[in-house]
Amino acid sequence: MKDSNFLKENNGRLMWHPMTSPQDSIDSPPKIVTEGHGVRIKDIDGHEVVDAVGGLWNVNLGYSCQPVKDAIAAQLDRLPYYSTFRGTSNDAAIELSYELAQFFAPDGLSRAFFTSGGSDSVETALRLARQYHKLRGEPGRVKFLSLKKGYHGTHMGGASVNGNANFRTAYEPLLPGCYHIPAPYTYRNPLNETDPERLAQLCVQALEDEIAFQGPTTIAAMIMEPILGAGGVIPPHASFAPMVRDICDRNGILLITDEVITAYGRTGAWSGARLWGIQPDMMATAKAITNGYFPFGAVMLGEKMIETFENNAAAKIGHGYTYSGHPVGAAAALACLAETQRLNVIDNAAARGTQLYEGCKALMEKYDVIGDVRGGHGLMTAIEMVSDRDTKAPDAASGALVQEVAYQNGAMVRVSGPNLILSPPLILTEDDASVILGALDKGFAAL
Ligand code: PMP
Repeated sequence: MKDSNFLKENNGRLMWHPMTSPQDSIDSPPKIVTEGHGVRIKDIDGHEVVDAVGGLWNVNLGYSCQPVKDAIAAQLDRLPYYSTFRGTSNDAAIELSYELAQFFAPDGLSRAFFTSGGSDSVETALRLARQYHKLRGEPGRVKFLSLKKGYHGTHMGGASVNGNANFRTAYEPLLPGCYHIPAPYTYRNPLNETDPERLAQLCVQALEDEIAFQGPTTIAAMIMEPILGAGGVIPPHASFAPMVRDICDRNGILLITDEVITAYGRTGAWSGARLWGIQPDMMATAKAITNGYFPFGAVMLGEKMIETFENNAAAKIGHGYTYSGHPVGAAAALACLAETQRLNVIDNAAARGTQLYEGCKALMEKYDVIGDVRGGHGLMTAIEMVSDRDTKAPDAASGALVQEVAYQNGAMVRVSGPNLILSPPLILTEDDASVILGALDKGFAAL
């Protein structure tokens, strides 16, 4: 490895970072991470902290998951790559499809289409949704509905259904025919509703109104995160997802859950769909499927898709990636599924999630800058900062200091606008969670 001065000097000079301005990478150099062990990461200066970001919501099993590393190494030795395009396949991808069909059976999903990551998975689901309707003789169903504040990756389709201007404006014009519904975001909403259940009903009413306005037969699919993640960890009332499912059913609209964050245990349930008791028609997954150790994703497909695409010579899928079903990713995913079960991390996510959520609410009692704390469903928690609790004026300036002081005191947290986001590995212990809360306490105290 080059020495630390070389790395620090060249990072911002030579590499453009995602979601960052090139100048920012020079003016505010990032933490350069050089090692990861368990739930901890070490930076180039040797400082070690609990990674309360969990990589990027994806390192569910931590940084030392030996069975996954072994599976990757063994697969690299035996067969480092083979495609699954027409005419060829590989054994790891087949085995993974089999396992995923078992794991997702309660979600009504039993086929897999493999991708190289979350944005690919979203794109796949959107494209297959359009094709589904064409195959069924409804070629006019081309539009997509989604939630404001939703995040669906960065491909043109995903960006078009994204519900946050930051990821859209610079890249317009985006895909035509994408419409956005208010998010069930109780802390702030244009509907002036503070009761979560009532707000869920109003958002669902807005969805029905939009469907009626567009004309149901013009709409291909609704895509939504079961819990909005990048938008600031916004869990809807439990009634919301079942109502959306019902409306989609009544209008012939496919429901895609974007579970790039929520699948594989983060919410304390196997999937977000299962958390809310719904069965989507497609589920976009990625991230924790390989614990972040290999770029990979899977779109899981339900009965409607199966009925339409299988036993149908016309249903040729003109879509796929060089790395669809990559054997190394598939081997990593198989090991992750096994470890997720063996270590019972999903139950742990629920318990530690409650601890972090309650701990953050206790911080809110102490610090006025905290306007809202959201979470309570596994290891997805957000602290929203305001400069004034009465006006709820967002405070996007204080996060950087809280983050830095928390870092110096033992925890890496993520800043996203006025939100601090906590999404640590699901193997977090009670003590690790206390370290995160203690570090945040010091961070807020420094303000
Ligand atoms: N959908 C959701 C819900 C996500 O959170 C993300 C990534 N944070 C994506 C899609 C895109 O995934 P990727 O960055 O792997 O392309």
